Amino acid sequence: MMRYGFLGLGIMGSRMAARLLRAGFDVTVWNRDAGKCLPLVELGARQGASPKEVAAAVDIAFAMVAGPQASLDLCFGIDGVLAGIEPGNGYVDMSTVDPATSRRIAEAVAAKGARFLEAPVSGTKQPAADGTLVILAAGDRDLYDRSLPAFEQMGRLSLHLGEVGQGAKMKLVVNLVLGTMMEVLGEALALGERCGLAGDQILQVLAEGAMANPMFRVKGPMVLAGDTTTSFPLKHMEKDLRLTLQLGRELDQGLPVAEAVHAVFVKALAEGYGDRDIAAVVRSL
Ligand code: NAP
Repeated sequence: MMRYGFLGLGIMGSRMAARLLRAGFDVTVWNRDAGKCLPLVELGARQGASPKEVAAAVDIAFAMVAGPQASLDLCFGIDGVLAGIEPGNGYVDMSTVDPATSRRIAEAVAAKGARFLEAPVSGTKQPAADGTLVILAAGDRDLYDRSLPAFEQMGRLSLHLGEVGQGAKMKLVVNLVLGTMMEVLGEALALGERCGLAGDQILQVLAEGAMANPMFRVKGPMVLAGDTTTSFPLKHMEKDLRLTLQLGRELDQGLPVAEAVHAVFVKALAEGYGDRDIAAVVRSL
């Protein structure tokens, strides 16, 4: 049986790893705060002592950590993935990072004779639990094919988008839309309520028109209720918009709306909402 590893058991990783375990796969988990391994061990996971140990023990190691610095630490750190990975084995980083970070990791993994795939995901906490994420993979095609049985447990769709970096770019492009929609929904509700309009009626009108979408249906009532229960931590959205702006600069593509929306997320972060849901962005308006 294929042996899988899962590194990073936060909101997303814990649920994605649980999907693999519930499908009956052999999974070895690791998390920096080892306490988060326990619920997965109860589902039948083995627990690894370090990313190095996990990478050495499995055929394919998946990772889902906070962002570029975390991905670099995981790969290049003492007792990191690179120190353990064997020729022919696979490393699939599913974290949202910038293309340059992903390429750096890909080159280092390839230099070890191992295979690398980036595979960030679209979808949040509930889709991770339900196995309905959209997986945006790019890189080693053979590793993609070998990862499909696992991807089928974690996602309802997986795409292979080309060479390493293309998956990261797709994720940033998509999250530019998400972050902007979240901010503008909050802004519209704030203005509407200030005008004396009922928030639920604003949402009703939006839901009946061409702008109806599942995200407004979930986040709209949360904004009205002041509910900031975390599905997607606000700090990660700020990071994604920051990486998007960096990509725009590299490609000489103006992103005036992204600039403005990012500034609102930066303000919300500074006001202490980083670990709350992106719906908390409205608090800073
Ligand atoms: P999270 O709950 O904040 O979890 C972050 C994970 O990264 C934790 O396991 C944390 O370990 C680990 N980590 C942070 N810094 C590290 C380091 N230097 N070395 C090793 N591990 C480190 O985040 P999440 O919501 O699961 O998101 C994970 C990734 O998926 C992010 O890139 C995010 O942008 C992306 N994403 C999130 C969503 C969402 O809706 N939540 C959706 C799509 C994509 P500790 O437990 O030890 O802190």
